[in-house]
Amino acid sequence: MTATLNGSVEVPTGLWIGGQWRDGSDGTTLPVDDPATGEHLADVASATTEDAVAAVDAAHAAFGPWAARPPRERAEVLRRAWELMQERFDDIATVIAMEGGKGWDDAAGEVRYASEFFRWFAEEAVRANGQYGLSPGGDKRIISLLQPIGVAVLVTPWNFPAAMATRKIAPALAAGCSVVLKPASNTPLTALLLAQLLADAGVPDGVVNVVPSTSSGSTVGAMLEDPRVRALSFTGSTEVGRVLLRGAAEQVLKCSMELGGNAPFLVFDDADVDAVVEEAMIAKMRNGGESCIAANRFHVQRGIAEEFTRKLSERMAALRIGSGLQPDTDVGPLIDAGACADVDAMVQEAVAAGARVVTGGRPGDGGPSYYEPTVLTDVAPGNPILDKEVFGPVAPVSVFDTDDEGIAAANATIFGLAAYVFAGDRGRAMRAAERVDAGMIGVNRGLISDPAAPFGGVKQSGLGREGGHEGIGEFMEMKYIAVDW
Ligand code: NAP
Ligand code: MG
Repeated sequence: MTATLNGSVEVPTGLWIGGQWRDGSDGTTLPVDDPATGEHLADVASATTEDAVAAVDAAHAAFGPWAARPPRERAEVLRRAWELMQERFDDIATVIAMEGGKGWDDAAGEVRYASEFFRWFAEEAVRANGQYGLSPGGDKRIISLLQPIGVAVLVTPWNFPAAMATRKIAPALAAGCSVVLKPASNTPLTALLLAQLLADAGVPDGVVNVVPSTSSGSTVGAMLEDPRVRALSFTGSTEVGRVLLRGAAEQVLKCSMELGGNAPFLVFDDADVDAVVEEAMIAKMRNGGESCIAANRFHVQRGIAEEFTRKLSERMAALRIGSGLQPDTDVGPLIDAGACADVDAMVQEAVAAGARVVTGGRPGDGGPSYYEPTVLTDVAPGNPILDKEVFGPVAPVSVFDTDDEGIAAANATIFGLAAYVFAGDRGRAMRAAERVDAGMIGVNRGLISDPAAPFGGVKQSGLGREGGHEGIGEFMEMKYIAVDW
């Protein structure tokens, strides 16, 4: 049960349940294609509800012994997983680039980022302690301890197929939980490769299970209904997140939700325009714009808006699009032709509402999944593109006059994942950062993700935090013991 990618990279294609590769119980498979070339890469076993329950059986059986292992032992397994990711770096990047349609730098960047969750949570595994204290009345000792919550269901999106998985698996295993991962249907191969890597790192059978599925709703639904499951960690769209929160309500599961974003990129008129453009390229174009924290709309103060738009457009127009495995390309395709059509529809709708295309504005040459890096100007308040998560290489630029207007425009959204604020005067930037409603804010910088920092959103962008000191807590529960002696 393997496929060979790019002539030499062996990738498993079965379901990974209880330490065994299996076919789906009804024999169905899931096709995986390379969006850069349209090439068919593999057929992966597709889990049924029966397979999902078998994965929960395996996770449930493995939970007790794994939770009982000393934290240091769990840490060492995670540390080994980090080392193996360095050793297998190019193979993992190749699989990400091919099934995820990423440029090579984006794929390599993801392997580095994804691997760091193993190293970080190896370090956190030995520090998940509670507290001990005397009650105010002096009548008892108050002891609080943190214990692993149990079997966790993890559901991940296609845009960071490795990092979104490791950002959940690493803290769950550090806490002492066992997991069943349902990866996105576009990108199951990276998850299966990671399953193999974790087994090689010494993760016991059943602690990590991976069940790609053509029927995500029923597969995940069967697990959420299973009384042995205690937690759900989801990364994906707000729309699907709402459905899963309803499903999780039945058994009152602990939920961690990393949902959609609509990040404002706010630029005040004392900012250094060249430096801002540099950071804008990172915030917009990391992963070709297919990132939940991608700068989604640029709000620029009037005095520098024209210069910013011109310089950003020059940089965007110079990007070379193509497959991540070809040398000299900067940006990969979108995840599929449908995503490309969605982005084009958003651009056309924005233009119909008065926006003007400065560069791009149409599908790119080379295949049905490419879109030209695009800059739109004259995007007036109320233009529909400002309300949507673009998820592609499109930068709408909107102009504001006063600082208050800029901050109000930034906050005019149901989302609150990331935001970016730029000003020459850092006090001005920090004051704005305190007033912008987002879980994460880049001040004078476009790159914010860090495994050591708490990642997550406010408003309809989610619940909970991943990474940082907080991430392990999503997989633990606090127990309070009152003692009198
Ligand atoms: P999606 O459509 O919500 O899918 C995410 C995952 O949920 C996939 O594994 C998908 O499986 C599964 N799924 C879909 N419908 C389901 C259902 N009814 N029941 C159970 N599972 C279901 O999101 P996406 O298109 O893959 O990813 C893009 C979205 O993710 C964007 O909105 C982006 O902002 C968000 N995102 C957020 C973060 C964050 O940290 N906040 C990070 C990355 C991405 P299938 O693939 O089989 O449909
Ligand atoms: Mg892509």
